[in-house]
Amino acid sequence: MNVILLGPPGAGKGTQAEGIVKEFGLVHISTGDMLRAAVKNQTEMGLKAQEYMTAGALVPDEVVIGIVRDRIAEPDVADKGFLLDGFPRTVNQAEELDKVLSSMDKSIDAVINIVVADEELLSRLTGRRICKSCQKPYHVMFKPPKADGVCDDCGGELYQRADDTVETVKNRLDVYHNQTAPLIGYYKNQGVLVDIDGTKTVGEVFTDIENALKAKV
Ligand code: ADP
Ligand code: ADP
Ligand code: ZN
Repeated sequence: MNVILLGPPGAGKGTQAEGIVKEFGLVHISTGDMLRAAVKNQTEMGLKAQEYMTAGALVPDEVVIGIVRDRIAEPDVADKGFLLDGFPRTVNQAEELDKVLSSMDKSIDAVINIVVADEELLSRLTGRRICKSCQKPYHVMFKPPKADGVCDDCGGELYQRADDTVETVKNRLDVYHNQTAPLIGYYKNQGVLVDIDGTKTVGEVFTDIENALKAKV
């Protein structure tokens, strides 16, 4: 099964990804995580991506399409199927993905569209903390770790992303509405879109996604 997690920044894509890949045996592919790793390691791609990410803008399509194309060609993804998180983010990226998949004789089985209003996204993102080691997301109010500043799963140190500030989050929400939201219509036309109410609790959202995906397999 090949699945896309769609939704604005802060909708809960990263939070839900862990349980979904476990339950359905998929490979989690997060372009945001891959880009942050490239920035941290100061690779050529990381150096190119950094300024866009800091500003809350999208990294150019050719860069991200390249990473995703390489990743989905690897054998683990071919065997298990993928959960794409944070990609595609533009109609151009979606069209390129369709081309790559059809050349591999594959297709998208479901697009899970997690719906949350902007006001709530702002407080989710400004309170978000991420594990430095395993990238698991937490929230100071809504999902605090058991011990302050420490990841429950791996003991890693929690940090605040440089782009989770009020100003940058506002930019990212604008970018979402202008460039990413059109994908809702794109995938609705393909008959694969499922809307999920992302304002429920983490557990309830997971159950809704699980049921939607079980109906597809
Ligand atoms: P995304 O990957 O879509 O940007 P995250 O999964 O990182 O979103 O979640 C954004 C923030 O909101 C995190 O701090 C996370 O702990 C919190 N969060 C996620 N899902 C919920 C939920 N259902 N209710 C409340 N807070 C949530
Ligand atoms: P969010 O938690 O907002 O969903 P991500 O971790 O997915 O954020 O992405 C963080 C940043 O990485 C984005 O603001 C953007 O600069 C860059 N990025 C991630 N995925 C893509 C993509 N598919 N296309 C362009 N830029 C991307
Ligand atoms: Zn961790």
